[in-house]
Amino acid sequence: MSADSNSSSQETPNPAVDGSELIRFDKVTKRFGSNTVLDNLDFSVNSGKHVTLIGPSGSGKTTILRLLMTLMKPDGGTIKVNGEYLTHEVKDGKLVPAGEKHIREIRKNIGMVFQQFNLFPNMKVLRNITEAPISVLGLSKDEAEERARELLDMVGLGDRADAYPTQLSGGQQQRVAIARALAMRPQVLLLDEVTSALDPELVAGVLDVLRDIARSTDITMLCVTHEMNFARDISDQVLMFDSGRIIESGSPDKIFSEPEHDRTREFLNAVL
Ligand code: ADP
Repeated sequence: MSADSNSSSQETPNPAVDGSELIRFDKVTKRFGSNTVLDNLDFSVNSGKHVTLIGPSGSGKTTILRLLMTLMKPDGGTIKVNGEYLTHEVKDGKLVPAGEKHIREIRKNIGMVFQQFNLFPNMKVLRNITEAPISVLGLSKDEAEERARELLDMVGLGDRADAYPTQLSGGQQQRVAIARALAMRPQVLLLDEVTSALDPELVAGVLDVLRDIARSTDITMLCVTHEMNFARDISDQVLMFDSGRIIESGSPDKIFSEPEHDRTREFLNAVL
């Protein structure tokens, strides 16, 4: 759907669903001691796209999501979200490291779901979802609860609003975590191996919910996963990482059926 569409059917127009650039990494470097985890990395993601990051363990994929979530800072380069620097801000015409207030503002555009669900154990499911919209976005309790119930329906848990997280299976907890991230109406959803901690029989339910979200919403997705069939289904673009660099990128058909790089072939042979 076009961002400048005046369609009245769209309840809250998302300013960045027109295919314009939503995320840009420019020469981003990240080191841990002598370990260079990301090496002068350049890439961009257009709004509304679903991009999957694949590659061997330790190749830097999660670090990218954590940088975007501002859980860590790069050692070099810049990151922009929606045309605004995440890592920096402009003061008196100069680019300076971003302050906390600026970071908080830009980060409102970004939601993340982690491998471990990280729900608040002392809060019921509904409150897990309404907490941030009320305290960060300033929604009323009623508005936040109405939105939370819609999202719970969307993830198939409409009847579990009053449960505590420990009363739910891992798959159900992860679906609550997805609803909680979406409740903030982020422009981009970061998914970090969201099924890796689940018992095998619970994986499909979570992936089905994500497939549905990819199909039925305009949200941009950046996804680290070892679930190659899922990656193939939802991705517009796949980025293959090795040692902190993108060694190959393209459509899922190209990457999975006709990879150009030996490392991509080796990796896919090992995981498929
Ligand atoms: P991937 O997601 O591709 O498995 P990561 O981004 O998690 O890779 O990690 C890339 C490298 O960075 C690994 O060598 C990992 O050990 C290292 N690393 C990640 N986070 C930290 C940290 N907080 N401290 C030290 N090293 C880290």
